[in-house]
Amino acid sequence: MSGRKIGVVGGGAAGMMAAVTAARQGAEVTLLEGTSRLGTKLLSTGNGRCNLGNLRLDGSEYYTSQPARVNNFLRQFDTNDVISFFHGLGVILKEKNGCLYPACEQAAVVQDALRYELRDLHICEMAGWKADAVERDPETGKIAVKSGDRRLVFDRVILACGGRAAPKTGSDGSGYLLAQHLGHSLTPVVPGLVQLRCREDYLKSVAGVRADALISVLRDGRCVAAERGELQITEYGLSGIPVLQLSRTVNYILRERKEVELSVDFLPDYSSEEYERLCVSRDLMLSEDRSAEEFFTGMLHKKLMTLFIKLAGLRPSDRVSGIDGKDLKRVYELCRQWRVHVNGSNSYDSAQVCAGGVPLEEVTDRLESRMQPDVYFAGEILDVDGKCGGYNLHWAWCSGYLAAMNAVGDMH
Ligand SMILES: Cc1cc2nc3c(=O)[nH]c(=O)nc-3n(C[C@H](O)[C@H](O)[C@H](O)COP(=O)(O)OP(=O)(O)OC[C@H]3O[C@@H](n4cnc5c(N)ncnc54)[C@H](O)[C@@H]3O)c2cc1C
Repeated sequence: MSGRKIGVVGGGAAGMMAAVTAARQGAEVTLLEGTSRLGTKLLSTGNGRCNLGNLRLDGSEYYTSQPARVNNFLRQFDTNDVISFFHGLGVILKEKNGCLYPACEQAAVVQDALRYELRDLHICEMAGWKADAVERDPETGKIAVKSGDRRLVFDRVILACGGRAAPKTGSDGSGYLLAQHLGHSLTPVVPGLVQLRCREDYLKSVAGVRADALISVLRDGRCVAAERGELQITEYGLSGIPVLQLSRTVNYILRERKEVELSVDFLPDYSSEEYERLCVSRDLMLSEDRSAEEFFTGMLHKKLMTLFIKLAGLRPSDRVSGIDGKDLKRVYELCRQWRVHVNGSNSYDSAQVCAGGVPLEEVTDRLESRMQPDVYFAGEILDVDGKCGGYNLHWAWCSGYLAAMNAVGDMH
């Protein structure tokens, strides 16, 4: 039994995992949570179903400045460890397309199972305890955590305060201030896994359309990131998994400039040559007596085709026989290279993660601060964010577990 006093700041996924792990190692654990309840964010994860991990775990699913190190952390607590951990809490899991969920599809059971374990391990939970400073206590040399005029002293402290995403759940970015106060820098933070807002007013006419597409982010005309999946068009912009996954890249570019251009390919299975042949054969097959709307029926969603006909400067009722070949070609081109201009994203309120944070360069392989020994980091407060599919919660479990194991481990 270590008997070491461990303070965990932040009662989200990473903090609860850290507290359970440290207590199982015999530490005396106090879990400090700024809001009145632990694990509130978990309730809204996976649309209320909590996608808590993924069978296809790989470092390439994460954005970070040090992918090799993230891979190294993931190897030490992988998907089998997540499965065993939750089975150990009595949570039956199920898998869908590689994503792991509680079999009952209720995020609340994950929150409850963790809370019951915290209670059974006699962890001291202090809700409504929002830390506003973490510093070395000059008298004891230990780590003091303060909240107003309250003060607690620990052998080691794990900071698991999350980022700024979904601030109503408690993650308001205050953890970054604690880290900066300890001498850490901060990779600039932006909303991630969030919907994008576009300049084009005409999107209203196609709002509600969903379509498989390859979406590319262009920087000075060059593709810097691309994702394929179901695009969802909204009144104000674009959503859907591929868009959410591109949003952090777009938001970092938007920090430097006013707009980012996206190129959308609605027929990504065709090579350029195959598409060229498809267009030529359609032109030969279909009667020129048709209206433009009739002529392009069957290419894409009806609403999209009507939009593209109009964007090419035509009217849906125009007879194809009277349309210039260049204009028909333009409609075909729009199906492969529709350009939209993003001028913002939804705010942190709608974001699922916060990109950026405490750089991995500033923590050791034990997840210990290089600036202030005896302080450890876990979860989204670090500059590691994952794609959709349970990767962000996996990072929270993995880093929470490792930070706690190391914090309870040997003294220097
Ligand atoms: C709507 C939504 C859906 C999501 N769905 C999924 C999903 O299905 N799968 C997936 O993998 N990921 C999902 N995520 C992301 C995932 O929930 C987060 O990446 C993960 O919860 C981060 O865990 P964390 O413990 O690091 O931070 P958080 O969960 O944000 O927890 C941080 C905790 O610290 C507390 N805190 C903050 N500052 C202080 C302070 N100064 N003092 C004391 N306490 C403090 C906060 O109140 C909070 O309880 C989703 C996120 C959202 C918002």
